Amino acid sequence: MVDWPDCHYLAVRREPMYLRSTFLILLPVHPFSKGSHMLNVTVANHSTVADNYDVIVIGAGISGLVAASVLLKDGYRRVLVVDEYDHVGGNHIDYSVGGYTFDIGSFIFQDDSPLLAHLPEILPLYVPINPSWGRLNPQGMVTQYPISIRDDIIAAGPVEWVRILSSVLFARIFRRRLRNARDFAQYWIGAYLLHRSGLGNYMKRFYGLSAEKIDLEFAQKRMLWIKEHASLRGAFRRWVMPAPKSAPNQQLARPRGGFAHLYQGAVQRLESSGVTFFLGAKMQSLQKQDGVLFIDTEGRRVAASRVVSTIPLANIKKLCGLPSDEGLLTVTLISLFFSFSGDRGFKDPILYNFSHTGAWKRLTVYSDFYGRSDGREYFGVEVNADHVLGSVETAEHDFRQHTSANGLFTGDLRLEGSHIVSNAYPVYSDKADERAANAIAALRTLGIESFGRQGGFDYQPTARVSTLHAEAALARK
Ligand SMILES: Cc1cc2nc3c(=O)[nH]c(=O)nc-3n(C[C@H](O)[C@H](O)[C@H](O)COP(=O)(O)OP(=O)(O)OC[C@H]3O[C@@H](n4cnc5c(N)ncnc54)[C@H](O)[C@@H]3O)c2cc1C
Repeated sequence: MVDWPDCHYLAVRREPMYLRSTFLILLPVHPFSKGSHMLNVTVANHSTVADNYDVIVIGAGISGLVAASVLLKDGYRRVLVVDEYDHVGGNHIDYSVGGYTFDIGSFIFQDDSPLLAHLPEILPLYVPINPSWGRLNPQGMVTQYPISIRDDIIAAGPVEWVRILSSVLFARIFRRRLRNARDFAQYWIGAYLLHRSGLGNYMKRFYGLSAEKIDLEFAQKRMLWIKEHASLRGAFRRWVMPAPKSAPNQQLARPRGGFAHLYQGAVQRLESSGVTFFLGAKMQSLQKQDGVLFIDTEGRRVAASRVVSTIPLANIKKLCGLPSDEGLLTVTLISLFFSFSGDRGFKDPILYNFSHTGAWKRLTVYSDFYGRSDGREYFGVEVNADHVLGSVETAEHDFRQHTSANGLFTGDLRLEGSHIVSNAYPVYSDKADERAANAIAALRTLGIESFGRQGGFDYQPTARVSTLHAEAALARK
């Protein structure tokens, strides 16, 4: 069961749909027209009056919110943000039950994020935290994330050192042709350490597919740290020119009251500046007529001469009646929410699963951020749905069995709830980025600008990155 955040403050004022039998004239609309907000349009044998906006943003996640803020700064006065969810923030989803509060994943923010220039109200609401990241390695030890020189290499002993070294030398000499993410990782740390450290297993949990099916370009973009830490040239450069010391940023978590509470003030200010939120909207079609884009939802028609989309490419193409034959894969994420009393067996609030078994990918102990409830700790666990046949029961069973076998969570472990989110991450296989670029280009010919984690089929790891990408996409236009 999912307890959606309370978003009544965002409740949409639904306008009646106007149906007229007489012929109405299609009014051309200028983006900055200050005239009538109602646009009359003839459709088949009846006419519908559309609510007219300067620009429509589809998707109220971080990309959509930043887009609305940038468009206001660019001079747009009437901006409509439409989303099928009944809350803003997109995949920033929390779940509360009793005294426990969870997120669908591990959401950590920073006080120097460019997002704060668009939503300054949220900064004082965050909870400052000091997280650390641990990793369960294949040897059953909780150690440093993503790799520990001491525990993964030095402690392995001389026989393993020879194996690790010969495997790295073999890869550097004989495996120079890199075709996929596995080749990339093997080239830099060798097949033996890739397996021994559990990084190979984690890549599968992270990507959603085994590493040999993941495009090289994605590995080069997103796993650069492997190259940087394994390359002698990189090590020499760091030794000669250590990175300049900058003031550390403060890590932050959302307020205990949830994401709805976090975004409430920013949403109100955006509304008072000209943004209308249409949430819980079931969009049916998007059509272009005489340079104007019309979106039909159940009971409401809206129009604008500019549309920005941040929703999955397949969804927006379907709305436009375009064939969606790109076959872009995404990961469906199951989040399990547990409370616990006993000895959890590790200290870090965030723990990654690098072991050879167990479907779970990462867990986050929220009670380390917000305090225990009735003496109990509580945490969320992320599992790729494909790895447990889409079943919450299988995910829970697998988690209990795996953690128990590794000496974790000895005590009373209770499942408090779960949540399933589709399109959580893009999967980069078979040149997916090229296929996504083609889909984005096809939308552009219709006048639709598509970007964001889903709209750009772009693995944007943080709200910071989503903000920068949205700013850049709108600046290009
Ligand atoms: C599990 C997880 C953990 C993360 N951890 C962090 C972290 O620690 N720190 C951090 O900064 N970032 C983190 N991120 C990344 C961050 O959340 C993203 O960068 C950001 O949320 C992307 O925003 P977006 O608007 O592009 O996409 P989304 O948040 O996915 O928003 C897309 C919106 O489109 C809407 N939509 C989809 N289809 C339709 C449709 N047919 N009609 C109408 N609306 C539709 C959805 O309802 C949604 O609101 C994490 C993401 C995930 C999934």
